[in-house]
Amino acid sequence: MARKASVEETPREARDIGMGIPVPKETCSDAKCPFHGNLPVRGTLIEGVVVSRKMKNTVVVERERLFYVKKYERYEKRKGRYPAHCPPCLGVEVGDRVVIGECRPLSKTVSFVVVQRKEEGE
Ligand SMILES: [Zn+2]
Repeated sequence: MARKASVEETPREARDIGMGIPVPKETCSDAKCPFHGNLPVRGTLIEGVVVSRKMKNTVVVERERLFYVKKYERYEKRKGRYPAHCPPCLGVEVGDRVVIGECRPLSKTVSFVVVQRKEEGE
């Protein structure tokens, strides 16, 4: 696959970012989109639920995990919140299950980008 080196404003051919993540049907002209812009995704993949969409092009994704407490031989719930850049081509809403991938730091707090919106029952 030949990749153009020049940065254009017009939407171009979507890039397959690998890791079994499907390419979205919509397109966008966001430079920070992993499919239509120029943003490498590498490192951790996290699955969670979108809890806030109040920032421009950024969403907050919450993930719950179980933490084992040895003393009581039981699990307690722990959760993490991850601000993530959200490219417009994915059409993410609050309440959606999404997969976010680690990328370069995009701002002081954002170093993840939404790469997939999970459909119902997926
Ligand atoms: Zn896009």
